[in-house]
Amino acid sequence: MPGLHDDRSDLADRLRERGITDERVLAAMSAVPRELFVPEDVAGEAYADVPLGIGQGQTISTPWIVAFSAAALGEFPAGARVLEVGTGSGYGAAVLAACGASVVTVERHPELAEQARRTLAATGYGDVAVRTGDGLAGAPDLAPFDGIVVTAMAQRRLPPALLEQLAPDGVLLCPVGDGAEGTLVRHHRDRDERLADVRFVPLVPGAPSD
Ligand code: SAH
Repeated sequence: MPGLHDDRSDLADRLRERGITDERVLAAMSAVPRELFVPEDVAGEAYADVPLGIGQGQTISTPWIVAFSAAALGEFPAGARVLEVGTGSGYGAAVLAACGASVVTVERHPELAEQARRTLAATGYGDVAVRTGDGLAGAPDLAPFDGIVVTAMAQRRLPPALLEQLAPDGVLLCPVGDGAEGTLVRHHRDRDERLADVRFVPLVPGAPSD
């Protein structure tokens, strides 16, 4: 019977076919049990390259975009400080940690942040610091960051506070667009590169009102 584990062992090959060549990222994608980061009723689809609902109207990013983003950060030394904005399920943060980064991640929905904390602890990624709050403000007390990965669509421009919290040689990856549609931008040493057309849930300022 093909089990979930078989799907994971197959994931690196499928990502390789789609152009991911960074071996450290491929190893991280093979190591993190994605099925434990999605709700039980969709665990059977955990390795399909589709966004899945995780509650609060939010989605877990597809394996491809998670791998592509981690690879787009480039080489970094073990323990490099990486900020993720938009924890969601915690899966992306776990992949960054499995790549060797020291990760702090910020989520505006307290319920998602709490669930992500539990999942990260249960899967061996309890070192990831999960904060509840507005990720548009970054984490100034822990700045500067070697890498910043934004996993929700910034509206029209790169968030200024995040640019300020980037180390001089750091890399900021952020989807920028209008609503849910836009372009994944890589900012490095005052240069912006457009990497891919992407869809993400919008980056929403402030705390949830409900
Ligand atoms: N990296 C996540 C993807 C989550 S989707 C994963 O691997 O599962 C994007 C997330 O960004 C959602 O959970 C959403 O609630 C969150 N988000 C949106 N605006 C935010 C903001 N201003 N600050 C922090 N999180 C935000």
